[in-house]
Amino acid sequence: MSTAYCMKCEGKHSINGETSKKAKNGAYLVRGKCSKCGGKVATFKKG
Ligand SMILES: [Zn+2]
Repeated sequence: MSTAYCMKCEGKHSINGETSKKAKNGAYLVRGKCSKCGGKVATFKKG
């Protein structure tokens, strides 16, 4: 499971229902919902 910085919680939390998509720069864009508040979060992962 990945973690992302949540703007609402102002902290790092695990991502619920994460989906990853390969970005142009070779990294992976991981998107999902914050496990704490349910807000949308996104983070980049190196491939
Ligand atoms: Zn949150």
